[in-house]
Amino acid sequence: MRSDRTFTMIKPDAVANGHIGAILAKINEAGFRIAAMKYTKITKDQAKKFYEVHQERPFYEDLTDFMSSGTIVAAILEKDNAVADFRKLIGATNPAEAEEGTIRKEFAESMSRNAVHGSDSDENACIEGAFHFSGTEIF
Ligand code: GDP
Ligand code: MG
Repeated sequence: MRSDRTFTMIKPDAVANGHIGAILAKINEAGFRIAAMKYTKITKDQAKKFYEVHQERPFYEDLTDFMSSGTIVAAILEKDNAVADFRKLIGATNPAEAEEGTIRKEFAESMSRNAVHGSDSDENACIEGAFHFSGTEIF
């Protein structure tokens, strides 16, 4: 399993709030290379599949409604130690707990509208990247 790639989404709140450019700038400044990227929208069923590990959680319906409510930017990012370094760059799930300088601290509205997704393991980065991109779309 390669450890130099992670998967991210700029979530519907950050897209609607006009933060795509600023978030991509932070990703770039942090040293990530874009290996794949698309501006897209997922259906409720796709959101349910993507977040299926959370299906027993109380926020599953809200989360999947939200993630299918508007356009997103999906991307595969490349850098040494990508998963851990990107989790550090985005900050805590709850923006109230996110460190200064993190993407969620700067751009998230709340726990549920928290601006960005970042994979939590190399294995999930691979699964999540493949969910959105075919092999020929990754460079
Ligand atoms: P992440 O890996 O930091 O994105 O967090 P998780 O994998 O635990 O949760 C996935 C997403 O579900 C989060 O990014 C939030 O958007 C949402 N979420 C997680 N926990 C809660 C919660 O307690 N309440 C609500 N409303 N949403 C949550
Ligand atoms: Mg997660």
